Amino acid sequence: MTYIRGDVRELVLAGHTNAEIARRLGVDRSTPARARTVLGLPQPRPGKRAAATAEDLFWRRVRPLDGGHMGWTGYHTTGDVPALRHGGRIHTAYRIGFRIAHGRAPEGHVRPGCGRDGCVAPACQTDRVTRAEARKLDRLYAQIFGPPS
Ligand SMILES: [Zn+2]
Repeated sequence: MTYIRGDVRELVLAGHTNAEIARRLGVDRSTPARARTVLGLPQPRPGKRAAATAEDLFWRRVRPLDGGHMGWTGYHTTGDVPALRHGGRIHTAYRIGFRIAHGRAPEGHVRPGCGRDGCVAPACQTDRVTRAEARKLDRLYAQIFGPPS
């Protein structure tokens, strides 16, 4: 078995180029190149670097929790909102998660609808539109089955 340094592996998986990893860790370019081969990853074309999307960065910072909920291992704003920096801007994890789950940009304020503080699971995120739909459904059920006891 070929040994791969943990720090090399981490940077390869994070999408950095061989040249970048070599510069950062003071290793030869062949070291990350070999790590790619061992990990079964394609060699990047020189000079080309796939920019990580906000979604890529999101998935690198989540921690699965029981029941499909997710915690955030990344940065929090001063207001304790899970967030990340992408393209020179701060994006909240709630908004990115919402976009992943619903395939559209959220409208209004986004927050987890599961009642778990700080949950960033895409499926848990609600915006103004999904909350209005949920209220409409609640009213419909109440008309059919009577008010909740
Ligand atoms: Zn949740």
